[in-house]
Amino acid sequence: MSNQILVIVEHLKGSIEDITFEMLGKGKEIASNTGGELVALLMGSGVDGMAAQLAVADKVIYVDDANLAEFNPQSYCKTVSEVVVNNQPQMVMIGNTSMGMDIAGGVSIDQNMPFVAYVSGISADGNTVTSSLYGGKINVDSSLSGDGCIVSVISGSFSTDAGKAEGNPNVETTAAPDMGDLSLQFKKLIEPESGDVDITTQEILVSVGRGIQSDENLPLAEELANKLGGAVSCSRPIVDNKWLSKTRQVGKSGLKVKPKLYITLGISGAPEHVEGMKDAELIIAVNTDPNAPIFDYAHYGVVQDIFDLIPALNAKL
Ligand SMILES: Cc1cc2nc3c(=O)[nH]c(=O)nc-3n(C[C@H](O)[C@H](O)[C@H](O)COP(=O)(O)OP(=O)(O)OC[C@H]3O[C@@H](n4cnc5c(N)ncnc54)[C@H](O)[C@@H]3O)c2cc1C
Repeated sequence: MSNQILVIVEHLKGSIEDITFEMLGKGKEIASNTGGELVALLMGSGVDGMAAQLAVADKVIYVDDANLAEFNPQSYCKTVSEVVVNNQPQMVMIGNTSMGMDIAGGVSIDQNMPFVAYVSGISADGNTVTSSLYGGKINVDSSLSGDGCIVSVISGSFSTDAGKAEGNPNVETTAAPDMGDLSLQFKKLIEPESGDVDITTQEILVSVGRGIQSDENLPLAEELANKLGGAVSCSRPIVDNKWLSKTRQVGKSGLKVKPKLYITLGISGAPEHVEGMKDAELIIAVNTDPNAPIFDYAHYGVVQDIFDLIPALNAKL
């Protein structure tokens, strides 16, 4: 086992996702504290130019193959597994994203490596990781044996700043493994449908969750949004109930938003929701449960029934 931290670079449509820079920043801290090496693994086809954005890493391993041109869990897992076998990293860091979860699970099985998902904290020496259970209601600290493990990191857990540096990193180009017959083939990228309101461009969002109880109560939130000059967005159960369209959903399987103001009404703050709104400049949460995880992310919190607070607020506004 080497003292290498291996960060799997996630990119889509020509852009490196922020989660990569978060992991590089954290990985650099651990590598500096332990005398280890920070390595970024960049996979794709014709994307070698992206290596210049990964200069925080001590080394970039670049694997170019037609089967890696678009995300395919099989070809990506095979490639990561091969790099893991050849490099024996102490820790593999992957985004806790749709892509990352596919890779992490596959490589964990292939390499018989322990895998900690939903990680939101890692100690400076890399020996302890904090992860969420039960949709963020419980956090657990796990000690790592040092024999190699995979962690998938929830986006927003670390700063991106420490992981961003442009330059000429040391790039090692490696041949892709034998892909064999891939039973999965990429067909097309399905973009989200365009909707009535583009919530990603709104400066103010009033976001409703299951606490709104019924679609008959939505006008309360709509009135507040109108009075503030914003729009209504929501958590996933609201879309699952068909109370609002999918284009209003914030989160992992919805849209990522970064408004100036994000007000949550009756949203618990599950990691899948938080992933889509944690970068809002100002977050105000209203929830009757003082222990709701959303209060860990909110700048201001109100422990109150939305049906008491919102009519009074609307009247005041
Ligand atoms: C693969 C996957 C992808 C997912 N993608 C998304 C996604 O994109 N977006 C998303 O949001 N979720 C997503 N989820 C679902 C997510 O895990 C949570 O289930 C969901 O976010 C919970 O929504 P909620 O907070 O509205 O509901 P709940 O978790 O049920 O919370 C409701 C909250 O309302 C509060 N409340 C109740 N009544 C009142 C009241 N009168 N006044 C004030 N507060 C009140 C309660 O205390 C509670 O905290 C995904 C899940 C999976 C597995």
